[in-house]
Amino acid sequence: MGSELKKMSELLKSGATMLSETCPECGSPLFRVGKEIICAKCNRQVVIVKSTEEEGKIMGDRVLQELEQTLLSKIKEIDGAIRSEKDPDRLGQYGKALLTWLDAFERVRRLKPD
Ligand SMILES: [Zn+2]
Repeated sequence: MGSELKKMSELLKSGATMLSETCPECGSPLFRVGKEIICAKCNRQVVIVKSTEEEGKIMGDRVLQELEQTLLSKIKEIDGAIRSEKDPDRLGQYGKALLTWLDAFERVRRLKPD
């Protein structure tokens, strides 16, 4: 642990930059030294595949966006069905379904970044 901190301070002194990314192996903060990114604890070079990560994130956002639209259309369908429904049993079923969809919709919204 001590040598690790020593290594980190040495890195900083030598002009390395501490990054917000952490080592995938040990979770220690990574350092940029010139063009290389290294982990002081594992004492090795780390390759950050940032573009892939970002692609994955964008794709995830798109999926959530579509899911939100699907849920919204289901909620609208149920809303329409409730309006024309007179049977109390079926209204109860629609009510339950509506709560389920609304809950799912709420969750999807929470997963989405602002
Ligand atoms: Zn490491």
